[in-house]
Amino acid sequence: MKQMFIGGRWVAARDGATLPVASPADGEIFDHIARGAAHEVDLAVAAARASLDGAWGRMTATERGRILVRIGEAVLAHEEALAQLEARDTGKPITTARNDIKVLARYFEFYGSAADKVHGQTIPFLGGHQVSLLREPLGVTAHIIPWNYPAQMLGRTVAPALAMGNGTVLKPAEDTSLSALRFAEIATAAGLPEGALNVVTGLGEEAGAALAAHPGIDFISFTGSNEVGTLVQQAAARNAVKCVLELGGKSPQIVFDDVDAERAVPIIVRAIVQNAGQTCTAGSRLLVQRGIYDSFVGRVAEAFAKVRVGTPAMDFDCGPVMNPAQRARVQRYIDEARAAGIPVLAEGTVAADAPRTGYYVRPTLFGPVPRDAALAREEVFGPVLAAMPFDDEADGIGLANGTDYGLLAAVWTENAGRLQRVAKAVKAGQVFMNCYGAGGGVELPFGGTRRSGHGREKGLLALEEVSSTKTLVHYHG
Ligand code: NAD
Repeated sequence: MKQMFIGGRWVAARDGATLPVASPADGEIFDHIARGAAHEVDLAVAAARASLDGAWGRMTATERGRILVRIGEAVLAHEEALAQLEARDTGKPITTARNDIKVLARYFEFYGSAADKVHGQTIPFLGGHQVSLLREPLGVTAHIIPWNYPAQMLGRTVAPALAMGNGTVLKPAEDTSLSALRFAEIATAAGLPEGALNVVTGLGEEAGAALAAHPGIDFISFTGSNEVGTLVQQAAARNAVKCVLELGGKSPQIVFDDVDAERAVPIIVRAIVQNAGQTCTAGSRLLVQRGIYDSFVGRVAEAFAKVRVGTPAMDFDCGPVMNPAQRARVQRYIDEARAAGIPVLAEGTVAADAPRTGYYVRPTLFGPVPRDAALAREEVFGPVLAAMPFDDEADGIGLANGTDYGLLAAVWTENAGRLQRVAKAVKAGQVFMNCYGAGGGVELPFGGTRRSGHGREKGLLALEEVSSTKTLVHYHG
């Protein structure tokens, strides 16, 4: 049983409640976590606040940065053990889990080395005045993250907040809390003072809701579904605190008739089967110009049919999905699309020796998908790709922008002018041109437009989200 990490100590839920932890690869319950709730959230927020008045709050930016860099190094020193834990907890292929741990380390290196590079400004003002702008921590920051990339999400949201000197409270997803708990221990051993990072585990509607609504927090970073994102924003509004929302996506691959297919096809397949399609930035819509639709989608289908699904140790392209509810959700999209007569162009294969008790689904490529079908508009969050033809540039842009989301997009063409035009016209927080970047990219500001959320994480811009400015006006005569 794993306890919570609050104020530098291991803490059980006050009522002793726990939650089981199952491996998606075989459904086996292999551990338990504490089922924290409002009481433990109170403790964690108080511990984070106390850290601001203690050793953590007194540190210079350089000292904080040094600790963060050391945390990054410590994560790499524990890379294999953390990757094995993450793979067991999420079911993802071990190579993907190893990459996730490297990215976690990279977030701490990146923001650690940035901690003392965030400088203020001076502003010309009236005669006899000196005006300067200080950048300060927000205070206690709350971080609620989903189960698809637990280690990466932790790094993405907590590292910049720590770099700016905030006291943090993390609520990992109930399905995948183990790497965060182990991380807290590693970070503390690397020198992070007590209370700077607190991890409260438990259910979203209990621990998560209590954290989002807590009057003692100054900021919320939420990554997850649109439904919960709305609740979190309502809670933030009640306390008048700022929130960054990283929500869902339905990201288009926009392929023109002069595409370099050799390069594009494997990247497009990977962008939807990676992490079993459970990636907010999954390239889940394949929009192809009509003249090459059949030939190009045929090539994608050929590659897609080779996708293999298996356990973390099999280390294929794709693992199981997260839990039985997620499997049922993805399977329902597949079954309903089939029942509606949408043609299946290719399917991957689940390994014959993958445990029957695991949560596996067959990756499926559909096309042509009608523009008003659920598959064309809704986030499946599974390895399901929807191919659709378009006529010309304007039609391709209209189709790309034809969902409520706007997270990522990719444009594939050898025409440089068209690349720029389409990239500018597409509604998305990131646009890739002749490449695709689901996950990773610590340096690259990231976030949504429209229903994909607001605010930016990653890159140096994230440091602005987790800090505020104070304007000092000094009359010196
Ligand atoms: P989810 O919204 O169900 O859960 C996310 C987190 O919120 C979990 O920690 C959960 O415990 C917590 N939570 C649940 N109910 C809560 C409540 N009432 N109050 C406060 N917290 C609560 O999402 P999920 O199913 O874990 O993740 C899948 C979703 O996340 C997908 O829609 C996906 O697109 C999105 N996502 C977005 C990004 C991004 O960066 N834009 C990244 C990863 C995932």
